[in-house]
Amino acid sequence: MKIIKFIENFPDEQSCRDHFRHVREKEGIVCKRCGCEKHYWLKAKDMWQCSECEFRTTLRSGTMMENSNLPIRTWYLAMAFMTHSKKGISATELQRQLGHKRYEPVWAMMHKIRAAMGQREELYQLEGMIEIDEGYFVTETSKEDKENQKRGRGSKKKKNVGVMAESTPLEDLNTGKKSNQCRFFKMKVLENHKAENIDQMVEQSIDEKSIVFSDKSTSYVNISEYVEVHIVEKSSEEVTTSTLKWVHVAISNAKRTLLGIYHKIKGKYLQAYLDEFCYKLNRRYFGDRLFDRLAIAIAVGDWHKKG
Ligand SMILES: [Zn+2]
Repeated sequence: MKIIKFIENFPDEQSCRDHFRHVREKEGIVCKRCGCEKHYWLKAKDMWQCSECEFRTTLRSGTMMENSNLPIRTWYLAMAFMTHSKKGISATELQRQLGHKRYEPVWAMMHKIRAAMGQREELYQLEGMIEIDEGYFVTETSKEDKENQKRGRGSKKKKNVGVMAESTPLEDLNTGKKSNQCRFFKMKVLENHKAENIDQMVEQSIDEKSIVFSDKSTSYVNISEYVEVHIVEKSSEEVTTSTLKWVHVAISNAKRTLLGIYHKIKGKYLQAYLDEFCYKLNRRYFGDRLFDRLAIAIAVGDWHKKG
C-alpha cells in the first residue's frame, strides 16, 4: 500500500482498531474457554463477549499482536512499509521512519510479522511441474564459529537453502519458442546435504501428484518416492537457463534483496527473511490487497496450528 493511501485509510489509532476488529470478525472469533463462535462486541470495553459463557476476548488476544505494547497503528505502518516495496525495509530504517525510541520492540514486531507470513506460506503446497535446486546464502558467523575460526577451523558460514518453483512449460504457437512460466515459490533452509533433508522438504512442500525437475545430486536420490515423476537432468548451462530457470532467478533475487537490506544475517533468522521474501514474491500481483491479506495473517496468529 502506498504511504499516502495508508494515511488516508488509517489516520489514527481508532481507524486501525476498527479495521482490525472487522478483519477478526470476518475470520471468526472463537471463545478460548468454550469454543463458541458467537460473540457480542462490548463497545465500552473494546472487547468481544462470548454469547455462551460470557468469556471476554480482547482485540489482540490470540493474534500476533497479543503480547505487544505497540499501538495497532504502529503495526499497520510496519506492515505497510514491509509490503509496499519488493525490497522490504530493515528494522533500523523502520525504527527511524516510525520515530520510535527503542530498536528492540520494532525488531521483535517485524519478526512477528515475518512469522505470520511464514505460517501463511506453510498452508500451501506447490503442485504441477516443479523445479528444485539449492542455493548457498552467506550468513554472519556466530560466536562459537568465530572462536573456532581463531583456532584455525572453519570459514565464512554458508547456509544451504532448498528452492522450489512451480514452472509450466509454454510454447509460443506462432514462433514455436519454448519458455517456462513461473507461479509459486518456496525456500527452506536445510540442515545439511543429506538426502533426508531434501526428502522432508519435498514431502512437506510439494503435492504428491507433481512432476519434479532437478539436476543430478546424491541428495535427490529419493525424490521420486514422494512425487509422481522425478526428472533428472545433467548439470549444464542449458539446464540452468531453461529447465531450472526460475529457481535460479529466485535464488539470485533473494540474495540481492537480502544483501541489499541486511548486510549480515544471523543463520537462525535466515528462514524468517526467506519467508518474507517468498510471501511477497508469491503475492506479487496482489497490489493493495496484499496489506489486507497480511492483516488477516496477523489476526489469525497461531490459531490455525491449534485446530
Ligand atoms: Zn465461551
